[in-house]
Amino acid sequence: MTEARRRYLIETAIEMNCCSINQGTSGNLSIRHESGMLITPSGMAYSTLAPDDIVFVDGNGEHHGPRKPSSEWRIHYDIYQARTDAGAILHAHPTDCAALACLNKPIPAFHYMVAVAGGRDIRCAPYATFGTQALSNHVLEALKDRKACLMAHHGLTCFEKDLPRVLALAVEVEHLATVYGRLLAIGEVKLLTDIEMDIVLKKFGNYGLQD
Ligand SMILES: [Zn+2]
Repeated sequence: MTEARRRYLIETAIEMNCCSINQGTSGNLSIRHESGMLITPSGMAYSTLAPDDIVFVDGNGEHHGPRKPSSEWRIHYDIYQARTDAGAILHAHPTDCAALACLNKPIPAFHYMVAVAGGRDIRCAPYATFGTQALSNHVLEALKDRKACLMAHHGLTCFEKDLPRVLALAVEVEHLATVYGRLLAIGEVKLLTDIEMDIVLKKFGNYGLQD
């Protein structure tokens, strides 16, 4: 059972590279497991991973197995501890999310699909050095009532119930970042009203749920 979950994590990590969400080994992916999580290891190409390379981090933050967890394991760990709705977490540096994040720009309600992340905007967490507790704290704050946030001068973190959903969310947020970036280059960006976004958020409450 655990091996199947590890294989599924590797397959989704490879898919993350195929759909331009991630480049090389900069991103990382995890799923909630027992009291902790299973997470991709630090600095290894996904295509070379075997199930045993996936790292189990227990509920005390201790890692087990031959590999070290991704350097951003704290972000994943802290989200699972704080958010019972998180079943899978993706962190990466998709090009257009990273571009906006390097301008410290959140994604405002320029398109109704911004609500896919759970609110009227997608915040940008303040900068802190990669792999630090300070960065994890900033990300957790930016994810308040949200499932995705940008990270200043860094990239994207998002979570969902499971691996297919978290990959789909990352693809959607990257698309929104691409369109928003183009709008910024053209000129003044028109935003939807809070009232309209609240209507959309209410509709999203049961949108696309085919469980
Ligand atoms: Zn990163």
